[in-house]
Amino acid sequence: MTPLAVTRFAPSPTGSVHLGNARTAFFSYLWARKSGGRFILRIEDTDVERSELRFRDELLAELHWLGLDWDEGPDIGGPSAPYAQSERHGLYAELYARLEAQGVVYPCYCTPEELDLSRKLQRMAGRPPRYAGTCRSLSLAERHAHEARGRRPSLRFAVPCAGEVEFIDFVHGAQRFHMSDIGDFIVRREDGTASFFFCNAVDDAVMGVTHVLRGDDHLTNTPRQLMVLDALKLPRPGYGHVGLLVGADGAPLSKRHGSTSVQEFRQRGFLGAALLNHLFRLGHTGDVDGWLAPAEFPAHFRPEHLGKAPARFEESQLVHWQKETLGRMSVAEIGAWLDIEAGAPFAELVRHNVVLPRDAAPWIAVIKGELPPLGEDERRIIAAAGPGFFTAAAAALDEAGTDSKRLTKLLAERTGRKGADLYMPLRLALTGQTHGPELAPLLKLIGAETARRRFEFHAQNS
Ligand code: GLU
Ligand code: ZN
Repeated sequence: MTPLAVTRFAPSPTGSVHLGNARTAFFSYLWARKSGGRFILRIEDTDVERSELRFRDELLAELHWLGLDWDEGPDIGGPSAPYAQSERHGLYAELYARLEAQGVVYPCYCTPEELDLSRKLQRMAGRPPRYAGTCRSLSLAERHAHEARGRRPSLRFAVPCAGEVEFIDFVHGAQRFHMSDIGDFIVRREDGTASFFFCNAVDDAVMGVTHVLRGDDHLTNTPRQLMVLDALKLPRPGYGHVGLLVGADGAPLSKRHGSTSVQEFRQRGFLGAALLNHLFRLGHTGDVDGWLAPAEFPAHFRPEHLGKAPARFEESQLVHWQKETLGRMSVAEIGAWLDIEAGAPFAELVRHNVVLPRDAAPWIAVIKGELPPLGEDERRIIAAAGPGFFTAAAAALDEAGTDSKRLTKLLAERTGRKGADLYMPLRLALTGQTHGPELAPLLKLIGAETARRRFEFHAQNS
């Protein structure tokens, strides 16, 4: 029995959901669902300049579209409300006051230019850049002097000069960081907003999160966050850092690999279940290889099989899961997904010939519109059949209507052609292509009138 897990997804609403974040959201969701715990959605919007309400709305919609739901969040509330950090100032203020009373934080008056210069000097001296401790032991008089000059301080956490921070990462195993390697870090920015190190850790603790699952890029943030929690005597959640997503070439997944956000895949017509099936297997080995329905994922999720190696997102894999998903959808669902008026018979016709809705466009042209001009190979097949073949086809059509079985039988009798010699020119004249959905339903959708026009065209032009 998996112990009850309270997990969360804590996105910053600064853009559409990146696949990497969608994956950690999905794993966190699965962990909560598998264990019968809770899944929390928290919006980390303390960066007022980059956070936008429309991104937050989009984010919720994208997660719902993927098939995820949550037990607490900005849209549904919950015992730890509010769930947007921009609305949690009151709580943070109390905790800052406690840190100040304990003397583990201090105001820093350094300007961005001063900090920049200090980092440059450290780099030149071959040392890793970190806060030099400039304001750590300012006298009261010096602080007043800064304030008198109108400088607004940030608040820094005073990291002890010696000692270690240890924790067990449930993906990476035992971790140990020397405090002497960690510079004093900002817990409150000069504009009064909470820094990531502070509010991310504090909120996890006070919201009762037991398992924080996030990308590898946050591993080195964890010791700082633990120092804040320890100082405040807040409970430490467990942390696990999964390997990042990379593209097919092994480089971190980015724009140059094509689509990288959930929104882009949705807009192209990929299905939520297809995306989940691919994400489920990225940096995680479940106990089944085949397609899973969204409701089946939690039972097959194995948190102990989360990996630290980078995981490859490959669109070819996604296409595989897309086909598997389409194969399990009803005609009505396919019709809705195609989002065209052509109706159920059309959906049935093309369902095995499309991966994305745009793949249906040529078949819509086949049944409703004009065929594109034929290529050279196709013209050769038409020419080999000769005008007489198409005259006979038009005549057979008048007798058989759109009953393709009768039509081909009559045509075979009258032209002496059979097999590919019969079907290829017929299919080409009707659809402009040598492959595609079954001819019988296709002919019905094309209708006798259009079919006749297409035969006559070749009777006169080949
Ligand atoms: N807001 C942070 C991010 O989007 C959350 C990181 C975390 O999951 O702790 O990177
Ligand atoms: Zn300073």
